[in-house]
Amino acid sequence: MGSSHLSSSVAEGRAFMQVIDGKSLDSLSGNRVEVVCPSDGRVFASFPASGEADVDSAVQAARRAFNDGPWSRMPAVERGRLITRLGQLVAENAEELAALESRDTGKPVRQGKADVAATMRYFEFYGGAADKVHGDTIPFLEGYTALTLREPHGVVGSIIPWNYPLQILARVAGAALAMGNTLVAKPAEDASLTAIRMAELALEAGFPPGTFNVVTGYGSEAGAALAAHPMVDYITFTGSPATGTAIQQAAALNNRGVTMELGGKSPQIVFADADIDAALPVLVSAIIQNGGQTCSAGSRVLIQRPVYDRVAAALAKRFSEISAGPHYADLDLGALINPRQRSRVEGFVHDAEEKGTPVLARGRVDADAPAAGFYHAPVLFGPVDAASMLAQEEVFGPVLCLFPFEDEAEAISLANGTEYGLVAGIWTRDGARQHRLAKRVRAGQVFVNGYGAGGGIELPFGGFRKSGHGREKGFEALLGMSTTKTVVFNHG
Ligand code: ADP
Repeated sequence: MGSSHLSSSVAEGRAFMQVIDGKSLDSLSGNRVEVVCPSDGRVFASFPASGEADVDSAVQAARRAFNDGPWSRMPAVERGRLITRLGQLVAENAEELAALESRDTGKPVRQGKADVAATMRYFEFYGGAADKVHGDTIPFLEGYTALTLREPHGVVGSIIPWNYPLQILARVAGAALAMGNTLVAKPAEDASLTAIRMAELALEAGFPPGTFNVVTGYGSEAGAALAAHPMVDYITFTGSPATGTAIQQAAALNNRGVTMELGGKSPQIVFADADIDAALPVLVSAIIQNGGQTCSAGSRVLIQRPVYDRVAAALAKRFSEISAGPHYADLDLGALINPRQRSRVEGFVHDAEEKGTPVLARGRVDADAPAAGFYHAPVLFGPVDAASMLAQEEVFGPVLCLFPFEDEAEAISLANGTEYGLVAGIWTRDGARQHRLAKRVRAGQVFVNGYGAGGGIELPFGGFRKSGHGREKGFEALLGMSTTKTVVFNHG
């Protein structure tokens, strides 16, 4: 009851400020974005709608902090301690952050709490890792010593999506700051509140002014200005492929490096010999988690023919029992982020229905859910034509597609048959097949007899092809957030 009450009242009426150069500031124009709760469609708070000039002042502050401030001289172990301290402050403010994340995005409070736990883990991991990245010495010519240093890029600009704002900010900030970069983060206009709170907590933790800046506003204004700013040294983005293209074009004009995490159409492959009872709840949660608004959602299930009917029927039964409701009711899933996203999901569903794709089951929207919320009941389709729009494009909603297959070769061809390649799940008891499939499926992460949509902060994460490039999470993100400098001494 306590957390349910907090999540329906937190930040009511609060006018949030962004954090630039250690100061809480409104936008220079005074323009603001109204914060709508997806659960009831009601405005409950606001934050600054920044433009080019605000972004410029944040980037300048980050530049100064990188070049001249105490941050630029801080030993790695001290940077790590600040990151660890930030993780502790997240823990101390866990209830509020989870409530804020849930109210801002419409996700069930349970998911908000899981996101806060992952956020703490990111800071714990990267706080501990900050002083453990080092270079090599290289055998070179007689009379020389050659070595490499890992150096930060400088100012990292980070454009954050609305689906997991806390977690994604934490994974970028943790790795970027651990390596000695400074940060200007631009959260999504649909979900900026926890990013603002994180920047406030970073100040409380003792990060020097200018190291952890959060500039809020619309993608077309603040986001575009950050991507195009010539003083930003490196850009990370998580979001849709179309926006990723726009950001890469902007970065290309300054010849800056980028890390892109652009979503997926991730398959789970269920062979006839699999432990189907173990697979079923995972097949469901991989698409229902966060209302399917997860880059790594398991949105396609490929099922070997001998067990197709059995698995399809079991999934249909489970789907028909799933309900969507307000975040504070903590049901299976919440509302979608905004009316536009709901219309998009409806568009995919209507198109598939019109083309005669069989609907195996629909979940429901809870009768007590506020009518003005942005709900969409889960839908299970199968079998789905592998060439259809529904099979090929990322829906980003609670829509699951089933596909039958005959043999391993067909499973691989279906799994690799979209432009995406982010995550895959393989369900089989055959050990040799597990290894073959893990190698042949094109995905940045492959889970065998399990699936981790968004899970595992230690595990490098990122895509092939349209899913993006570069890797976040784990130790590997520290390499992405730094670059190699080779130093050669001629000592004769
Ligand atoms: P959606 O279309 O659902 O809003 P996006 O992938 O476009 O998802 O948004 C992810 C993030 O990208 C948000 O922070 C958004 O503000 C930002 N963004 C959107 N358009 C641009 C752009 N042209 N340049 C930079 N950032 C952008």
